[in-house]
Amino acid sequence: MKPKESLKIAPPPTPEEKAVSPYDIVICRAGTTGCPHVIINPKPIADKIEKLLDELGLGEHIKAKAKGKLLYHMKFKVALAGCPNACPQPQIKTFGISGQARPVATNSPCVECMKCVEICKEEGAVKIIDAKPVFDYTLCVLCDDCAEVCPTESIVIEKKGVKVMANGKLGRHPKLADVIKELATEDEIYEVLKKVVEGHMINP
Ligand code: SF4
Ligand code: SF4
Ligand code: SF4
Repeated sequence: MKPKESLKIAPPPTPEEKAVSPYDIVICRAGTTGCPHVIINPKPIADKIEKLLDELGLGEHIKAKAKGKLLYHMKFKVALAGCPNACPQPQIKTFGISGQARPVATNSPCVECMKCVEICKEEGAVKIIDAKPVFDYTLCVLCDDCAEVCPTESIVIEKKGVKVMANGKLGRHPKLADVIKELATEDEIYEVLKKVVEGHMINP
């Protein structure tokens, strides 16, 4: 199995820090203790997101509206997941991301070991046809497992990025987040976030 990208391990915020923050920012364990499924490390992105939210004035805006009573439903909720398993549930947050990796077939000869098909949890997403991997991207969740197990590099990762989601919520009127962008770059995460924050400050 190929090595995953190295992780910068950092402690999570303390309960005291969380209580007074106008944001609820959750990262999966890929950014703290590490995880073998990681595609992107969520911790440095979470740090930049928190800084950007402050720069955009969102924290002050939320605190002013709270008038000293900062309740959980008032907080701007963010979840960052290192892979499509999406453990911290970005689909139900105001802003969320999950790591993605798009597999492609190469010209390297496939030995038809079927390891890629066996490890894939999305039936039909990868098939071996005429000794070559063929992908159905309508089924593939871009998790990179098939490329990880392929012994011949007949499958490689063409592009890594993140799925960017926004405006999901639970509560009285629950709603799954809209998928804003797939395989986004890090800069694109922050561009989308700025627009989401602008909208949130007008219509929380
Ligand atoms: S979201 Fe993926 S990388 Fe993060 S903890 Fe869950 S399985 Fe691991
Ligand atoms: S990336 Fe994941 S979901 Fe897509 S074909 Fe490979 S193992 Fe299946
Ligand atoms: S693409 Fe790789 S993992 Fe899949 S059958 Fe061929 S050699 Fe095996």
